[in-house]
Amino acid sequence: MADLRLAARSERPDGTVVEVRGVRIGGPGVVIIAGPCAVESEAQLLATARAVKAGGAVVLRGGAFKPRTSPYSFRGLEFEGLRLLALARAETGLPVVTEVMDARHLPAVAECADILQVGSRNMQNFTLLEEVGRSGLPVLLKRGMSATLAEYLQAAEYVMAAGNAKVILCERGIRTFETSTRNTLDLNAVPMLHRETHLPVLVDPSHGTGHAWMVPALASAAVAAGADGLLIEVHCDPGAALSDGGNSLTPDRFTAMVRQVAGVAAAVGRSLV
Ligand code: PEP
Ligand code: MN
Repeated sequence: MADLRLAARSERPDGTVVEVRGVRIGGPGVVIIAGPCAVESEAQLLATARAVKAGGAVVLRGGAFKPRTSPYSFRGLEFEGLRLLALARAETGLPVVTEVMDARHLPAVAECADILQVGSRNMQNFTLLEEVGRSGLPVLLKRGMSATLAEYLQAAEYVMAAGNAKVILCERGIRTFETSTRNTLDLNAVPMLHRETHLPVLVDPSHGTGHAWMVPALASAAVAAGADGLLIEVHCDPGAALSDGGNSLTPDRFTAMVRQVAGVAAAVGRSLV
């Protein structure tokens, strides 16, 4: 499929497990990562972090630096958001994944993040890929919205070639002619990536659909297809969210989704971490 020297499945036929503060991503267990799209305030983040932990999440997500299509949209609390993520991590004990948009922010992001997220829009930012590679921290690399799987795997190869084997992939939907959903969640990617690479494969049905009501169905489908985990956006008051309220689950709906997903995991011989 592509010139893969480090990411190819043949390099590690048994698969890679990325361990983050005791959470094993890529092992037999299915990992639930959840939290708000964006960190908005201390109260919002702490309430959401507690709720997702109670509902079954083992890693907290939350954006401090947000890549927004319009420069006039809420672009995140930036360094203050990182401080709040560190607070939420200290309070809940959940490891944190947050996006790094610019290599200049890397030292600050690395202080509060257990996993560095490289977003869809930066999947082919090769200098950023090399920088997160040199950081040595686990990297959650999202699929570019128009990237083929071969391009995606070569982006992962950039991180690995810079000396970092701890790469986690995440299918988050691609651009197609369909307009009823925000993106088209490409679940073909899950078995195909597992065949081509040894890296763990997550699925993000929140951005993959853009509709909160669709998220439980696609989360279940992802686990049925073999996903190693899910990335889910949760907000205590989605109608008031500063970004992505439309695809954010309430804590109650998140908790119900986790129960449903646990049943699907059991049906395919897995369990939740
Ligand atoms: C996100 O997960 O917050 C995000 C911006 O996702 P993506 O890069 O997939 O659009
Ligand atoms: Mn979002």
